[in-house]
Formats: sequence, C-alpha cells, structure tokens
Amino acid sequence: MAKKSVNYNMAYRNASCAAGKFAREEENGWEYYHVPELTARGIIHGFFTRNCPSLMDDDENRSFLDTFSLDRVVTLHQEHGNTIHAVGLDDSPDKGDGILLYKPGIAAAIRTADCPGIILIDPAFPMVAIVHAGWRGTLLRITSKAVDMMAERGASKQRMTALIGPSIRGCCYTVGTEVKEAFLNEGFPENIFHNGSGSIYLDLKDANSWLLTDADIETIFDTGLCTFCSLDPVFASYRRGARSERQINFVGIRI
Ligand SMILES: [Zn+2]
Repeated sequence: MAKKSVNYNMAYRNASCAAGKFAREEENGWEYYHVPELTARGIIHGFFTRNCPSLMDDDENRSFLDTFSLDRVVTLHQEHGNTIHAVGLDDSPDKGDGILLYKPGIAAAIRTADCPGIILIDPAFPMVAIVHAGWRGTLLRITSKAVDMMAERGASKQRMTALIGPSIRGCCYTVGTEVKEAFLNEGFPENIFHNGSGSIYLDLKDANSWLLTDADIETIFDTGLCTFCSLDPVFASYRRGARSERQINFVGIRI
C-alpha cells in the first residue's frame, strides 16, 4: 500500500522547538518534566529523572499515588513489542508495551532507560495513552497503533498532543546496518539516520515524529533530553551502564 507523503520537516521543526513547553518540577522527592498547560487541564503526567524511585515496591507506589492524587498505577512486563492494552477500572494486564486509559484516577506507567516513552493526550475527551517506543516497538509502529486505538474509541486526532520523553538521541545512539535496513524496508525515511565517525546514528525521536505526523498528529512536544549525554538532570541510561535502573514515564486522568 502506498504511503501518503507527509511534511516530515514540519514535524521535526515542531518537535525540536517544543522543549520550552516542559517544566521541571519536584514534589515529595519526585522530580519530573511535565507540560503545565496539560496538567492544568486535568491530565496528570510526567517523565521522571534518575533521582526518583522506579515504583518497584509498595512504599514507592504509595508515595507516587499520594503525591499525584491517583488511586492506582498500572505497569506492564514490557517486551519490546507493540501490544497496547485499553485499561478500565478493573483491568490488570500483564505483558505489553502500551496502555490506553479513559477512566480517571488510574495512572499508566512505562519504565525506560534510553528508549523513548511517548504519551498521547486528548485533554477534552479525555483519553490518554503511553507507549514504550524502543527501536523494536518503533519499527512495529506502536506509536501509530496507539493513535489509532484512541481515535477508534472516540478521541480526536486534531485535539491530540504527543509528548516525547527523555531518551537516547541521534547524538549518541549508534545502531548496526541491519537495524537501518529494517527501518528502510518498513518505509521509514532515510533522514532518521545520520553517519558520523564510521557509525550509523538513529534518532528514535525523529522516527516517532514521522509516525505521528503520518497519523495526522500535528502537535508534538519533545523534551529534547538525551538520556545518554544529559548531565543535568541525569537519567538512567542502559547504554551508559545503568543496566538495572529505570525511570518512570506516566500519564493519568485526574479524578
Ligand atoms: Zn546524546
């Protein structure tokens, strides 16, 4: 099937100019980036830094829920696929890499350590989703799938905002030729890659911005933060040696 052409440069420009939309805040020891105008509209969300716990035990969960006035948090055993669960009040999915929420009081959290966490928000419906978009998930178009699932359930693409979290960027993310070939074979544009010092660099922010634009999402806010080379704040970076550390990316609808 022929892909329609998209204004990729427009998506890139929007994404790279939007870092100023984000504020870095700290509450009860939880340090995170969020977009205040979306928080003010009742969408609780954030990309945590390395200074935060990673919701691995009950105390951390309790503190997180109390701080953000939420009833419960849904996490997944992530597997670098493209399974997305629509979660209602009583659903507790096990495995997957994306969560869609339409009920207030629930948070969906994705753990990352270099891969982009991407949040999708229709603040007026309201409906939200979050996906784990590493290279495998991006290749499987998990971000486009999340947009489609929201639209099928009544969310508006025109109202939708996409947030791209801290992640390893084109400045630091080297990949093999087999990864580049896989993306080109799937129809991704060549300009998500660049060459330097004998290596191939992939920018997953660009790859996902392209997917979002192709899915008719015009509003893309990118944190602009590289988990590998950012010194302030510091992020958990798998490739920089933090093999077991993760940071939390979350979204939910306020009660
Ligand atoms: Zn970097």
